[in-house]
Amino acid sequence: MKRPLFLFNTLSRSVEKVMQLRPEEVTVYTCGPTVYGEQHIGNYRTFIFEDVLVKVLRHLGHSVRRVMNITDVGHLVSDGDEGEDKMEVGAKREGVSAWDVARRYEQHFLTDLKALNIEVPNPLVRATETIDRQIALVQTLQDKGYAYVISDGVYFDSSTFPGYGDLARLNIAGQQAGARVNMAEGKRNPHDFALWKLSAEPGKRDMEWKSPWGVGFPGWHLECSAIAMHELGDQIDIHTGGVDHIPVHHTNEIAQSEAATGKPFVKYWAHAEFLLMDGGKMSKSLGNLYTLENLEERGFSPLDFRMLTYTASYRSKLNFTWEALQSAQTALGRLYKAVKELEENSKKDLDKLSEHGELLLKKAETAMADDLNMASVMSVVWEVIGSSLPAEEKLKVLYALDGVLSFDLQKNATFKESAREIPEYIRDLLEKRQEARAVHKWEDADAFRLEIEAAGYYVKDTSDGVKVEAQP
Ligand SMILES: [Zn+2]
Repeated sequence: MKRPLFLFNTLSRSVEKVMQLRPEEVTVYTCGPTVYGEQHIGNYRTFIFEDVLVKVLRHLGHSVRRVMNITDVGHLVSDGDEGEDKMEVGAKREGVSAWDVARRYEQHFLTDLKALNIEVPNPLVRATETIDRQIALVQTLQDKGYAYVISDGVYFDSSTFPGYGDLARLNIAGQQAGARVNMAEGKRNPHDFALWKLSAEPGKRDMEWKSPWGVGFPGWHLECSAIAMHELGDQIDIHTGGVDHIPVHHTNEIAQSEAATGKPFVKYWAHAEFLLMDGGKMSKSLGNLYTLENLEERGFSPLDFRMLTYTASYRSKLNFTWEALQSAQTALGRLYKAVKELEENSKKDLDKLSEHGELLLKKAETAMADDLNMASVMSVVWEVIGSSLPAEEKLKVLYALDGVLSFDLQKNATFKESAREIPEYIRDLLEKRQEARAVHKWEDADAFRLEIEAAGYYVKDTSDGVKVEAQP
């Protein structure tokens, strides 16, 4: 039996019942990573939200067809149309080609998804493998009078598209007046954006293609429209991303898709809020862009982070602190321990839930269907564990919910609870050792290492950072 999902729609700024366009499946498009470096945990908060969305839809009985792109070309440093291509920046940094950078960080991304128990969308489509379709879309827009050519490329004329900026509720008139500076030579309106950029010096870029307008590469926004419409049709149900995509990237996706087809592109836009760091912004310059590896170096597992994301609605800013992650780790450890004990006390397989079990499961399902309220789902999890239900029945409910929670309860309870945890004082010692090394106090560093070893752990210096593990 299908149950409806209620989801906050950025278009209407309200929670709406999802009514899909086609009865057989819900179509979901997700903006994927720009693969020029490692993704940070802020990005992964959004990817976890999207994974939960798809799993909740399935749990509620819907079939889902989901597509994600891999941005491996054309995303410029400014998010607009200026600056270098991020892939070229990565290539210079690492002394390899842009192609190598793209494949390297796509692989990193896939490894991270696995560690977070995020299902890999199928299909996952690389921008560089859809250049023909992107060129065809630019051609359509030019034929219909929405695009114009200037010296550095082909641009979308935002003044020709009446609903431009509606998603972000942009005050176009107000912004036009203030934004006359910083316009590329020949650009007609400040919000016009590149559909196709011409290579400044053909032959110098690693990634460039021939087109009717000259050798160049696609604008960043174009790939998502081309891929979404090819894989899912001109109209899709749900389109997801981070809130930072609203004013530019998604605004431009709507303009170019709807201008090309004359139909509404997306019914429901769903956006995840930012992850804050100690109450402030994450940024490279502040050095607080943590990767999953950085968490693992401190003894936290990717699933601890997944647990942390469930403590707040995807629509609120979530404040990341090490203390908060520690609490999430403790909670997950408690959950594994509880499941392990239930498994030990459970005697038979159960084919049916009692009325009470059914009631608790429904309660969790109502919470997830209410705009993905995972904090409430988690409180039902604890309610199930503390309830008077027999062990077999508790397990049945918990395993069912784990289809969404994705903690690998069945697999991990026994194994992880004992093996994975590195106590906090050991992590503190490791940190002190690193600090000592950083200021070349080698004797102090060695003393800390010996202390760690005496406690039954050892320090491993690996090519990708320092780790501490329990001695076998
Ligand atoms: Zn996109």
